Amino acid sequence: MNKKNVRDIQLTDRRVLVRVDFNVPIKEGNVTDDTRVRAAIPTLKYILEQKPRSVILMSHLGRPKDAPDPKYSIRPVVPVLSRLLGVEVTFAEDCVGPVAQAAAAALPPGGVLMLENTRFHPEETKNNPEFAAELAKLGDVYVNDAFGSAHRAHASTEGVTRYLPGVAGFLLEKEIEYLSNAVANPVRPFVAILGGAKVSDKIAVIEALLQKVDVLLIGGGMANTFIKAQGYSIGDSLVEDEALDTARALLAKGGSKLVFSPDAVIADAFEDGANSRTIAVSDGVPAGWRIMDIGPKGVEVFAGKLKDARTVVWNGPMGVFEMPNFAKGTFEIARILAEITKAGATTIIGGGDSVAAVAQAGLTDQITHISTGGGASLEMLEGKELPGVVALQDR
Ligand code: AMP
Repeated sequence: MNKKNVRDIQLTDRRVLVRVDFNVPIKEGNVTDDTRVRAAIPTLKYILEQKPRSVILMSHLGRPKDAPDPKYSIRPVVPVLSRLLGVEVTFAEDCVGPVAQAAAAALPPGGVLMLENTRFHPEETKNNPEFAAELAKLGDVYVNDAFGSAHRAHASTEGVTRYLPGVAGFLLEKEIEYLSNAVANPVRPFVAILGGAKVSDKIAVIEALLQKVDVLLIGGGMANTFIKAQGYSIGDSLVEDEALDTARALLAKGGSKLVFSPDAVIADAFEDGANSRTIAVSDGVPAGWRIMDIGPKGVEVFAGKLKDARTVVWNGPMGVFEMPNFAKGTFEIARILAEITKAGATTIIGGGDSVAAVAQAGLTDQITHISTGGGASLEMLEGKELPGVVALQDR
């Protein structure tokens, strides 16, 4: 990456303002998955080893409606971070203004402060310059380690760099390196797998990937629109009729690079306990039934395309994997990726649902790189530059 990282800048005796991605799931005041907190620890430990004057952390959490809302408070993250980092972390109930400034000023040498959710202020997502300047007042240098937010030009990811020299943390750097290498210099064959609910979310990424990959496998609900566009009946399956023309154009453009499952697991209701059976897609889905997963032939066809792949990127489940009866296709893909990783392929998974599926299958550490950012990783696959990265200092 041509951007400076934390090793390229003086941190000793400085107030280091760090944007992390602590947008973690919280239930009844407890963090239920600390993956994103763990992912920031190497950068934070490195910063602390440099004996900074202080470390001030900021992040958003969820989508509060532009005002403080206890449901989206970042406070529950503080004990988790304290434990993982092995130091006391204090908390400020606001990310700007007198409360934040007093909490920052009260820190002992090398102290760590977590600021309240940046999205409690509407100025954050509007990238308001005065708000960004207020955030910047809390630091002498800025470190961005929030890959999951780097595709947003917000005050804490982009605006702040107009007031402070900005560098990348290790997580941000690692994410960018894996994803940009995969797209720019993939070892071939290069196979992409896309799934999930909606085609409309992924049209740009399909178009971009068709230029780069050798094969593009499509499963999940988004395949239904393509199946319908090919003239097969899909019964009551999830579909985006407004995307049918786009799907036809992509089918024409993609030709034999685009591969779909020849069979499907269908159900007579959208529930785990529904009656289900496997059909050939070309036979059509009867009325009242819907596609819930790719079938065993689909797994076989996809396995055949993946067997010799040297680079694979995957975003989006192959079926309604939250229901155990329709999770098989997704889990099989996870298993195949773990297998080919062992044989030397580079495998990269992004997007909350596919990452969760790999975790449920117990295969997380058998994948080359699991991205912490769904939207950001899709934009990287589209070949876009991320505003939070562009804003950092060049090497
Ligand atoms: P996305 O956020 O677009 O990656 O979509 C993920 C969601 O797609 C998951 O909640 C899946 O349950 C859902 N999904 C995958 N396949 C299907 C399908 N065939 N029908 C309905 N929903 C699906």
